[in-house]
Amino acid sequence: MVLSCAGEKFTLRGKTVTRKGWKETEEDFRKAFGLEVKEKESILPVLVEGQVFLDVESKSIENFTKPPKAYTEDTLLSSMERAGIDEMSDDVERKGLGTPATRADIIEKLVTDGFVKREKKQLIPTEDGIKLISVLPETLKSAKLTAEWENKLARIAKGETDPDIFISEIKDLVKKLVVENHEVTEEQRAIFGTASREILGKCPRCGSDVVKGKYGPYCTCKTCHMKLGKAMGKELSDEQVKSLLEGKRILVKGIKSKKGKTYDAFLTPKGISDFSYTDKDGQEITGFQFDYHLEFPN
Ligand SMILES: [Zn+2]
Repeated sequence: MVLSCAGEKFTLRGKTVTRKGWKETEEDFRKAFGLEVKEKESILPVLVEGQVFLDVESKSIENFTKPPKAYTEDTLLSSMERAGIDEMSDDVERKGLGTPATRADIIEKLVTDGFVKREKKQLIPTEDGIKLISVLPETLKSAKLTAEWENKLARIAKGETDPDIFISEIKDLVKKLVVENHEVTEEQRAIFGTASREILGKCPRCGSDVVKGKYGPYCTCKTCHMKLGKAMGKELSDEQVKSLLEGKRILVKGIKSKKGKTYDAFLTPKGISDFSYTDKDGQEITGFQFDYHLEFPN
């Protein structure tokens, strides 16, 4: 119900059972066995449109607002199911975001990509997730886009519109998004600033900062191609990378020799050199890496 008082709107939701259906049988069954019958109280009184309530008692109370509750897997799934549903036409089969078969995977991908983390039953957005959603164009964030596409797909299925038109519209949208979002605003730059990135040291090739990245340490200069995450094929810890950048000796365990034996070694950086190899897709990879002076523990 929507109530109006002194120009303000107040809403109230409630359910009143008008027909008990199979629950009537259940109640009879429970009564027959002397079990308790749960009587659900209806919250709403009998109401008529246009009804006026006179002499309503009112009082003001003080309270604190609470932040909205974090989603759980269940509440997020049902929100996805309902998202954009009012904007979808009745003949659309797949409503909401994703399908029953893909919704759980979509959430899982957000977790593995580091945009959402699980805390007990709750799904909490990570810092990366909050940053991403704050810079994504409104068009892409809105469930309206899915609704529009689903409506068009439904019309294509019925032969009412040409698939080529749909594809060219998508191409136009992508072009528009790339043009409009080509440059990062100052505000966005501030969000993605270097403040939260941990600096491990200076790049030995170009002198730029080396920072901790999601896929290992990397040089922030985009053109120097100094590779720092591995030594002799072994992945290095942040501490080891820090030491190497300071020119210090590190102990690397479990290095594999060409003959397949594993050994430990102390590595001390002694300059850098270029490397190149062809990856499994036939692409040539080039870059720079540390040269090491090797010592072996007894
Ligand atoms: Zn560099």
